[in-house]
Amino acid sequence: MNCRVPANKRYQPTEYEHAANCATHAIWILPSMVGGSVLYFLSVDKWHRVAALLYGSGLTGLFLTSTLFHTAAWKISHLRKVEERFHKCDRMAIYFFIAASYSPWLMLRELGPWTYHMRWLIWVMACVGSTYVFFFHERNKLGELLGYVTMGAVPALVILSMVDRAGVCELALGGVFYAVGVAFFKSDGLVPFAHAIWHLFVAVGAGIHYYAIWRYLYLAGPQPQTSR
Ligand SMILES: [Zn+2]
Repeated sequence: MNCRVPANKRYQPTEYEHAANCATHAIWILPSMVGGSVLYFLSVDKWHRVAALLYGSGLTGLFLTSTLFHTAAWKISHLRKVEERFHKCDRMAIYFFIAASYSPWLMLRELGPWTYHMRWLIWVMACVGSTYVFFFHERNKLGELLGYVTMGAVPALVILSMVDRAGVCELALGGVFYAVGVAFFKSDGLVPFAHAIWHLFVAVGAGIHYYAIWRYLYLAGPQPQTSR
């Protein structure tokens, strides 16, 4: 582990930490593609297929962009502009990943009369968040983190309005892994391999959410018709 840096500087991982940062997300790229395809083939109608495509793309996109960015940060960090572009893509992918993670629930479950607007609102939030990253990347790190936490937490309130609550426990458990992981995300230079540990928390959170989507929205067979 290297020394901690001031808030306005980027932590420089050791060689081992770089390798761990790449490996801890690279190993999930293929399983994400397979997982998304499994949901697609379990689909009973076009809405299930659309949700599977969105979710599978979000999941694969997250691990792929993260791996590309960490590889760039490790191997071509002297090309600052290139590395920064990969970093922006990584950060933008997180917004789309959050939207993609909620989409199957928002699209396939019966929601309250107002809350179904969250189906499209979440994509507007993802676009606003990634536009912010595109123009103001790394200007206000705490602001960016708050943006992610808000986007991660607000649709959860809508999920609680679902008529059928099966899967809510798994969703909350996955959310706890993301939330605890943030502590490691902020611990570069304090805890060895902190960023790789954060990656593992993300992978476990995503794994639990995948399990819930697979089990309750796809394996359970045709869902009651929702007000699409
Ligand atoms: Zn990372």
